[in-house]
Amino acid sequence: MIEETRVRELKGIGEKTEKLFEKLGIYTAGDLLRYYPRGYDVYEEAVPVSEVEEGKVMTVTGALFGRVQVSGGRKMQVTTAHVKDITGTLPVVWFNMPFLRSTLAKGGLITVRGRIAARKAGVVMEHPEIFYPSERYEERLHTLQPVYGLTAGISNNLISKAVRQVIEGLDLTKDRLPKELRIKYGLAEYNYAVRGIHFPEDKEVFFHARERLVFEEFLSFILSLRKLKESNERLANEYVLPRHEGTERLIKKLPFALTVAQKRVWDEIADNMEGTTVMSRLVQGDVGSGKTIVAVLALLNTALNGCQGAMMAPTEVLARQHYESVTKLLEQYEIPVKAALLTGSMTAKEKRRVYDRIECGLVKIIVGTHALIQDAVSYDNLALVVTDEQHRFGVKQREKLAQKGGVPHVLVMSATPIPRTLAIILYGDLDISVIDELPASRLPIKNCVVDTGYRQTAYAFMKKQVEEGRQCYIICPMVEESESLEAENVTDYARTLQEEMKGDVQVGCLHGKMKPAMKDEIMERFGKNEIQILVSTTVIEVGIDVPNATVMMIENSERFGLAQLHQLRGRVGRGQHQSYCIFMSGSKSKETKERLDILKETNDGFKIASEDLRLRGPGDLFGIRQSGLMDFKLGDVYQDAGVLKAASEAADWLLKNKNEWFQEMSDYEGTSSVII
Ligand code: ADP
Ligand code: MG
Repeated sequence: MIEETRVRELKGIGEKTEKLFEKLGIYTAGDLLRYYPRGYDVYEEAVPVSEVEEGKVMTVTGALFGRVQVSGGRKMQVTTAHVKDITGTLPVVWFNMPFLRSTLAKGGLITVRGRIAARKAGVVMEHPEIFYPSERYEERLHTLQPVYGLTAGISNNLISKAVRQVIEGLDLTKDRLPKELRIKYGLAEYNYAVRGIHFPEDKEVFFHARERLVFEEFLSFILSLRKLKESNERLANEYVLPRHEGTERLIKKLPFALTVAQKRVWDEIADNMEGTTVMSRLVQGDVGSGKTIVAVLALLNTALNGCQGAMMAPTEVLARQHYESVTKLLEQYEIPVKAALLTGSMTAKEKRRVYDRIECGLVKIIVGTHALIQDAVSYDNLALVVTDEQHRFGVKQREKLAQKGGVPHVLVMSATPIPRTLAIILYGDLDISVIDELPASRLPIKNCVVDTGYRQTAYAFMKKQVEEGRQCYIICPMVEESESLEAENVTDYARTLQEEMKGDVQVGCLHGKMKPAMKDEIMERFGKNEIQILVSTTVIEVGIDVPNATVMMIENSERFGLAQLHQLRGRVGRGQHQSYCIFMSGSKSKETKERLDILKETNDGFKIASEDLRLRGPGDLFGIRQSGLMDFKLGDVYQDAGVLKAASEAADWLLKNKNEWFQEMSDYEGTSSVII
């Protein structure tokens, strides 16, 4: 077996399963190795019956007590047993496993591990895993079982087995990291790290394995940045675009005055684009700071100079939103510039029409998704590329665009708060502009952290807001295991809520599994206030701008990273009305409360991210991922800031001492997500 071996050749994987694996982005043995678990199931010590907590997965050891009963009909049979220790008795139920009655009839000690649920008559353990006789649990104790991201038709066990086969079949002894580096930074060998990330014997092994892989991930990323920097130090500006009076005129006519920060950033951009070197600039600004208008000014100025500008958004919904606000602006101020939308879900015919209009230079502003950089698109004179809220526009893409014409200016918009020192490591050669103030007209968002008992009150509050003409978002609980479950969840939630709200309020729902056209339709209706309450997964997280929305309620907010919650909250408080954010928490723990309270206290994205980190401490890697920043598979620039610094130092060392390593590392997988 080699890394390139197709998964099809593994035992137990046929044509059908292969297709399913492809859905997860797994084509080869190497892909499987890098398909890291999303989390781990930890087999903890058993607790006394009196200490079980609702909602948690727990283990209990006790004597089987009383009769094992089977009840229910053909559809659903429930087997009930009782496990007793000196602190109490816990009812345990299994679904559709009637044969357990005879298995468990012998009595004696049993260990069960499952989720504790609250019923009217008290707590029960539902559908637990059985260790019978009880000693069987000892083998499992303290081990970590990988939990993988799944898709319908693929079980955790199937992935687990496939990964095991690959680990056993591949030669993993070759190590990409030079030994000197491994020793200097105390990093595990590759072999150990791969096993340890998938099947750690304990937490220690996991931490050690993970650290090594994160280091490698960061290192290859940084090296490819440095490589790029060496290869084209500072490219000459092939598109010198002076400030056009039309742009300046628009700034004066806007319904709002630009903030001082927006003006400063616009100046930096404009100076850059008429200067001697090509622009590679990152615009950082917290949610709601008004990045879009700055980007639009850059696009417009490009167009008025007779060149083309493209704006790339991470989702179709967002692309459409930007397209609509650009065309509205052009029409409203009678600016003689044509814009076009280009997304992956358009029909071939529609696309061809847009391609033609781009190629002949008729349209000057093109807004879209990744479809913008497909081979089929050839630009007349593309001078500017803006990427909004996303980090997947890389070196390769820029090179690709440059091949089609001159080297375009690049503007990257990001709401991710990172300290400057990290930004310099991560974004390498990018110049950084910061929009560090919010428009003055904004009322601060009112926040509250509540438990689920507050849900009805929250609904009533939303109803009132809707009566006043406002709109609301509800973010549904995350479902770790699968996207389809999440979709189901959202749909159910919206249906129930619609029933509850009766006919007065229109409830809509949005999730990642929907067809793009459907998503657009829903967003459009929400934009027009035909839908008043939008129930959604986190697909809503980036960029959406509906200033009339004033309530954001997040279910199970304890499961999100604070940085992400902050992004979600940024969907409200965008207009002149008072806005509210309700963080609903399903957990009663003190730590959760303390963590969520940070959001209540501050609106400063960077402060939130660093406080979160401080509270949870760097050891808490089972915790929630802070940022999807840069698409690192494992690494997180906040949590692993120390590793990032070390990797940066190692990159310097490699460049000085080991050029052959440099080549190999920077060609390594996963560098495709590098910025500029
Ligand atoms: P983000 O930085 O999160 O991308 P947007 O660019 O979407 O923020 O701007 C948020 C909202 O603020 C938009 O509705 C936009 O029209 C408005 N806005 C932008 N700049 C200003 C300003 N200077 N004064 C008032 N409102 C503004
Ligand atoms: Mg935005």
